[in-house]
Amino acid sequence: MANKIPYPDFWLDKPYYSLNAYLRKQYGQKVYKLSLDASLSCPNRDGTLDTRGCIFCSSGGSGDFSIKIASPSTGLFPEAFSLMEQAFSKHPGSPFIGYFQAFTNTYGDIRYLEEIYSAALKLPQIIGISIGTRPDCISQEILDLLQQLRLQYPDKFIWVELGLQTMHEDTALYIRRGYDLSCFQERYELLSGHDIPVIIHIILGLPGESTEKILQTIQYISTLHPFGVKLQLLHVLEHTDLAEDFRQEKFQVLSLEEYISLVSRCICYLSPDIVIHRVTGDGPKNITLAPKWSFDKKRVLNTLHKYLRDNALFQGCTLYQR
Ligand code: SF4
Repeated sequence: MANKIPYPDFWLDKPYYSLNAYLRKQYGQKVYKLSLDASLSCPNRDGTLDTRGCIFCSSGGSGDFSIKIASPSTGLFPEAFSLMEQAFSKHPGSPFIGYFQAFTNTYGDIRYLEEIYSAALKLPQIIGISIGTRPDCISQEILDLLQQLRLQYPDKFIWVELGLQTMHEDTALYIRRGYDLSCFQERYELLSGHDIPVIIHIILGLPGESTEKILQTIQYISTLHPFGVKLQLLHVLEHTDLAEDFRQEKFQVLSLEEYISLVSRCICYLSPDIVIHRVTGDGPKNITLAPKWSFDKKRVLNTLHKYLRDNALFQGCTLYQR
């Protein structure tokens, strides 16, 4: 007789609460993502804090697969809607999330930000938007705009994605993140206080971070109980300062086996109410130096799921054992 699985049916076929499971529960069907690039910048690139960007960030501002829909100087591109329609036509009748991914998507003129968010929200295929940004670029003005848009589009959601990467200040200095943990904590609480669901990005495998340090970050996030988390494998991309350090052998990237073991432990430490939006990562193949095993995403996910099942592990299981 099969053992009863120790996690809810709505997690579907995975031993963790995946974004797919969450969306299926909410919308009863598969939901796709449309990555959007509104030609914004970032205080880590335009000289406000730095000109070099975070040490791992590509020249595409971590949005290398996005559709360019607008620019601050010209507004929405005339072809923006047909570009989005082309993407919708690949999955006819399916709902989409408009993901403002490239660079810092709350860093710009407030009227321009309103224009780009509204352009996505008003499309019937878009059920909500997710805005990738940094905590130090969350202002009262931004919060007011998001509140206003929620009133204008009550049947759509607005999520905010914050790139924390690590809770450790020494690593944050090395990666040139440009804000400290207290800034993150304060803006996270502001967003949560306004009932805006937050997704926190963490990078696994940053130079100098032991498993213990990474698990400390995971435990910190777990106690915050955000809506979601993205667990991203560190990718070394060409033309970044991280690539230079990698070439000089200042650090090594994780092997597939190391990553599977590490990400599994992270999943075990994460509170089961947190939706896991990502358990790996995908850098653009043409500029990814390492690790190349990550290109085969299906293999990575299959290996992870097998490892979790073979070892009877599931999201939050470590918390139950305390
Ligand atoms: S904050 Fe984001 S967009 Fe800006 S440099 Fe860092 S990773 Fe790139």
